[in-house]
Amino acid sequence: MAEKLVSRLWDIPNSFKLKEARKRGAYTRLKKALKMKPEDITAEVKTANLRGLGGAGFPAGVKWGFVPKQSDKPRFLCVNADEGEPGTFKDRQIIEKDPHLLIEGAAICCYAVGLPTAYIYIRGEFFYGKKILDAAIAEAYQAGYLGKNILGSGFSLDMFTHPGAGAYICGEETSLMNSLEGKKGWPRIKPPFPAVVGLFGGPTVINNVETLSYVPFIVEKGGKWFASLGVERNGGNKLYGVSGHVNNPGVFELPMGTSLREIIYEHAGGVRNGKQLKAVIPGGSSTPVLKPDEIDVSMDFDSMMKAGSMLGSGAVMVMDEDTDISEIMHITSRFYAHESCGQCTPCREGTRWMSLICKRIYEGKGRRGDLDLLLNITDNIEGKTVCPLGAAAAMPIRGFIKKFRDELEAKISN
Ligand code: SF4
Repeated sequence: MAEKLVSRLWDIPNSFKLKEARKRGAYTRLKKALKMKPEDITAEVKTANLRGLGGAGFPAGVKWGFVPKQSDKPRFLCVNADEGEPGTFKDRQIIEKDPHLLIEGAAICCYAVGLPTAYIYIRGEFFYGKKILDAAIAEAYQAGYLGKNILGSGFSLDMFTHPGAGAYICGEETSLMNSLEGKKGWPRIKPPFPAVVGLFGGPTVINNVETLSYVPFIVEKGGKWFASLGVERNGGNKLYGVSGHVNNPGVFELPMGTSLREIIYEHAGGVRNGKQLKAVIPGGSSTPVLKPDEIDVSMDFDSMMKAGSMLGSGAVMVMDEDTDISEIMHITSRFYAHESCGQCTPCREGTRWMSLICKRIYEGKGRRGDLDLLLNITDNIEGKTVCPLGAAAAMPIRGFIKKFRDELEAKISN
């Protein structure tokens, strides 16, 4: 059985309270970190092969290393707690059940990179999570883990939560920063990257909740130990959230690189009602679909790319033999059309156009040539937009057509 790290307190009553968390080691890693050289912490995080677990998979330590050492601008940590990718429900568990772990990980990051202010940008719908997190931050201030001169180290840090207003696009790092600044949540053109010109124009680290929550364990046991839990270039554990037609849906913390088959059939209990597996979306709705003969794959960032899909947020959505693929395409395309911010034409027009075509196919009004038209639209979106939402909308549609073309053509010709 894999060792649980970020989920180890989840079954303990009142695990979100400082008293309970402290009984199990909370803030001992911060205390240790504050006695280390900041650059040594970043080096350990690099050795750990900790990837950005919100979906992009960029190595966290490398990202921290991009922040300039000297700057006359204010410097920030933004914690991305927006968790809007359909099928994804893992960060919410950390926030609600072990908020002190997130606060500790964020504080260690701030000390390592020299950031005196942290904002936790939390999804607006997470009313309960925000309440829990605000209470935990207040407890941490009271106990001297936040605020001025933390534990007598000379390092000071202020931490705030900020709720979003329900826009999926504000989970994208640059629109998150615009939203935090009180502007419209539109993505920015990169470069410049946030590490150099970020929130309020200052150097900014943006990391996801799950990513930062693994940092205390890296400080406690070392980067090499963490790296050894996972696979090459993908260290540690990962939270895999499984939903859809399975017997035992939920969030499972497993070593990075656990096979998709094991996740579905051992941990999520297999396909419900004895049905056959038809399709799996492996990492949130924007990741291309896999068929049953493609699930013997290691669920890590690099292997999933080689398999023609993506690890994304690790949100596995399972579909049984009765699933109508045209309905999944309709629902998915409608979501992205609704969430496009409208800033750039290929995404604004293309997602809406794809949604209209997918809807008519689903309703039995598809036209001959619709599948090729959809593929043409995906070609005109991908790589031609300001932010990755355009590609996130195009990739799943292309994947469904590639893998289930016969079924979709049969539906159109009926
Ligand atoms: Fe907005 Fe879509 Fe362009 Fe992203 S790709 S900036 S969501 S219009």
